[in-house]
Amino acid sequence: MSNANAYAAFERSIAINAARPALEVDPVQSCTYSELDRETARCAATLHNFGLRPGDRVAVQVEKSPQSLFLYLACLRAGLVYLPLNTAYQLAELTYFLSDAEPALVVCSPSAEAGVRELVRTSRLRAQVATLDESGGGSLSEAVREASGEFTTVTMSPDQLAVIIYTSGTTGRSKGAMLTHRNLLSNATVLVDTWGFTSQDVLLHALPVFHVHGLFVANHCALLSGAKLLWKAKFDAKATVSDLQRATVMMGVPTYYTRLLAEPGLTREACASMRLFISGSAPLPLDIFCDFQARTGHTILERYGMSEAGMITSNPLNGERRGGTVGFPLRAVSVRVADQQDHPLPAGETGGIQIQGDNVFAGYWRNRSKTREEFTADGWFRTGDVGIFDGDGYLSIVGRVKDLIITGGYNVYPKEVELVIDAMPGVLESAVVGVPHPDFGEAVTAVVVLDRDCEPLSESAVIGHVKRHLANYKAPKRVHFLSDLPRNAMGKVQKSLLRQRLAAQPEHRSSNY
Ligand code: AMP
Repeated sequence: MSNANAYAAFERSIAINAARPALEVDPVQSCTYSELDRETARCAATLHNFGLRPGDRVAVQVEKSPQSLFLYLACLRAGLVYLPLNTAYQLAELTYFLSDAEPALVVCSPSAEAGVRELVRTSRLRAQVATLDESGGGSLSEAVREASGEFTTVTMSPDQLAVIIYTSGTTGRSKGAMLTHRNLLSNATVLVDTWGFTSQDVLLHALPVFHVHGLFVANHCALLSGAKLLWKAKFDAKATVSDLQRATVMMGVPTYYTRLLAEPGLTREACASMRLFISGSAPLPLDIFCDFQARTGHTILERYGMSEAGMITSNPLNGERRGGTVGFPLRAVSVRVADQQDHPLPAGETGGIQIQGDNVFAGYWRNRSKTREEFTADGWFRTGDVGIFDGDGYLSIVGRVKDLIITGGYNVYPKEVELVIDAMPGVLESAVVGVPHPDFGEAVTAVVVLDRDCEPLSESAVIGHVKRHLANYKAPKRVHFLSDLPRNAMGKVQKSLLRQRLAAQPEHRSSNY
């Protein structure tokens, strides 16, 4: 039987690229692919020595370091289920994840160790605890140093679990999306092809590694093609401008591009060695797409994906990259836009985005009912995103199903209103949400960030502007001005937080608006 372990595919590429650089780390540390392979072997052997066996979960909440990458790859090699946790989660939040996933090992930063041990004890979990810090120190690394550099990658079948990744949980409890070796590898193979990765590429990697974007998309593309990773612990716009001169590809969330544009050093010359800028995880504003093109001569390639399915669509490498869209379905991924009865809709009509393919996850961990709810009778996964195909086959995302506002019986897609508000001179960005309203059910409510260099705008000016462009029922009932929008680590606007905050304000509790 051939080995469907995703790492077995990486091993084939590593064998070809053994002497080539795999990681270049701040400040001058680096390693070749054969060194990376040896490190992952030693780490996998260590995990085996800890008594961990295929199928056991390894929960990891650590800062980004080369060792954190080796740990992830070691888990794949050893057939363990990797469970990345956002470094922002507090101990109280970990209680849920650890009790739900029941890991056999928790790897945390040394500063969190005492709290994690106490949590493991009080929650009566049978988990070991090891530490890893941002410079690669800690009890795990000490054990790894003693271990052998030989490890035979465990044979896995395509359907066996590789990763559980908890969704951000903006509606209700966070759920563990179960990803198989097939999910990871099929997606990685398609992406290498779609984006033209080769061993000549140098990928600037400044993303966090607790999320699909930084953990799978970036790492897997490099590993499968033998490209070099410029491994950055954090995104820093100024440093990135100078790093770009040694890179060929960058992957980022939209906020990275916004921040890069604020750097005067971002010029055509600074991007001379670059062949591709990729954006995803949140919508790329059209003005950023255009400004970036004007300043650098590069057209950002926007793609769409999610924890449950890796990457789903992408603008083309060769061919028109259309701003405001997420491009075409990837090879081997089927995408349809459907109505509420799950009937496919033609191009030009808005509906729920549903997908099928080898990239689609195996369901939610220990949550059969939620899994059943999210799949249609004919086997399509409901992404929870609302979208529309244009006549040329480009998909645009209009918003999340749960963000849809139903006001007085009418449906309002926030994105449509946001685009109109964003086009007003003096507006930097906006977010439109539904806030409970005694008469309308929900009231369209806008939160607007103004450009400090422009004349301030009034609430009535914003409402009047929307009414001139859209049906009255789509216009906000109230407009709030904030200095910035709350965003998570991946640059997504936290609409649930906005909704909660606005709903708590007394003015939104009366019907006089
Ligand atoms: P996560 O599971 O945290 O990766 O979040 C996935 C969600 O991010 C998707 O369901 C979309 O709502 C959103 N998303 C990802 N990429 C894009 C994009 N290019 N444009 C708009 N939304 C996106």
